[in-house]
Amino acid sequence: MTEPAAVEPDRARPRVDAFRAPKGTRDLLPPVSARHRRLVARFAELAGQAGYGEVVVPMFEELGVFSRLGEATDVVTKEMYDFVDKGGRRMALRPEQTASVVRAFVEHRPSTPWKAWYAGPNFRYERPQKGRHRQFDQVGIEVLGVDDPHADVEVVALAWRFLVAMGLRRVTLKLNSLGDAGDRARYSELLRAHFEAVAGELSPAARETLERNPLRVLDSKRPEDAAAIAAAPSILDSISAAAAAHLDEVRAGLDALAIPYALEPRLVRGLDYYRRTTFEFAGDALDGAQDALGGGGRYDGLVEALGGPATPGIGFALGVERILLAVEAEDAAADPVPAVAAFVVDTTGGREATVLCDALREAGIGADRAWDGRSLKAQMKAAGQSGATVAVIVGERELADGTAIVRDLRASEQAAVPRGDVIDHVRKLVSPT
Ligand code: AMP
Repeated sequence: MTEPAAVEPDRARPRVDAFRAPKGTRDLLPPVSARHRRLVARFAELAGQAGYGEVVVPMFEELGVFSRLGEATDVVTKEMYDFVDKGGRRMALRPEQTASVVRAFVEHRPSTPWKAWYAGPNFRYERPQKGRHRQFDQVGIEVLGVDDPHADVEVVALAWRFLVAMGLRRVTLKLNSLGDAGDRARYSELLRAHFEAVAGELSPAARETLERNPLRVLDSKRPEDAAAIAAAPSILDSISAAAAAHLDEVRAGLDALAIPYALEPRLVRGLDYYRRTTFEFAGDALDGAQDALGGGGRYDGLVEALGGPATPGIGFALGVERILLAVEAEDAAADPVPAVAAFVVDTTGGREATVLCDALREAGIGADRAWDGRSLKAQMKAAGQSGATVAVIVGERELADGTAIVRDLRASEQAAVPRGDVIDHVRKLVSPT
């Protein structure tokens, strides 16, 4: 009888190609995940202080919710993650959240003014590059039911204060007015006439955009289009007296808050619903192609388009990844907060570390430990790497006499304390008064 051949592990288990996160998506691991969380926490705090409540909307909606945003935008026409569900409904992953928040407003009819903030991922089928992903996060707010220009100031100021609170200093606020619906339509025709007269100089892409929406030609970043855009008429010459007075009040409000801005008459947003105030934040430490930190403005008619009563709205959305890129580019990151304050070193087998970690955590003190019965030296090394400021050490001697050594890792000083006093002792070291 022949011996069975040794089974080669590779043959026994067929090799599987390792999976990777889908193109345009990323896993967030520490410490990047902590930066995201801190950013959202800061935003929640500032929005909450200003009287905004959090709204959490679904990650997908009926396709119609987003297609109402208009057919003139790439977000809707080219980049939507739409699909037919098992019930045969046409759905889409949300490419942004304003439409969903407005859909929720129409569905639940809260009393106005309705001040909402949100945070979470959006999905767009874009060509991925630095600062441009297929799944990306935004934080934003919407105010529904207010026409007052001082609401515009509050909204712009909230975004500005947030960016400053994130440590950013090199941010440009660009401000413009799109006038009222009639003004926009008139201006759009003026622009069409202007661009048609110089159509021969425009890029093919801009010529195509011109057919759909002349306003969007102003967004072109192609060098061939720059001269025609620079020579285009200014919308500020086309806006009504009422819209001009609104803009003046917004400007006066920003001046009163000492928030600097640049009036930018070429800043237009292509959607039909936008009117009056429109604004954008550029991160000046970032490359031109990815310097947009976010923006927003007034919209009119979106509530109606989604089946609600005529209601004015204003809001903004800021890109989380972009802000974090800008923070990095400005070297403005806050000091990392250590995950744990105390690290328990147990050379008696591990049960003491289980009990002490639990007691420290119950007392509100972040605690961690090593595993697998490692040596004292290896555990002390892990304590140092954890960022903890205190090590609590239990060896056979401490186990026998009911004590623990509490070691201040910064000062390299230590004391043996009775087990019952460990928490108090650690607390004094991690939160000195
Ligand atoms: P928008 O909703 O298109 O006005 O975008 C608002 C902000 O979200 C932009 O200024 C960017 O900061 C961010 N953003 C938009 N699309 C992406 C994307 N594909 N990847 C990362 N950030 C994005």
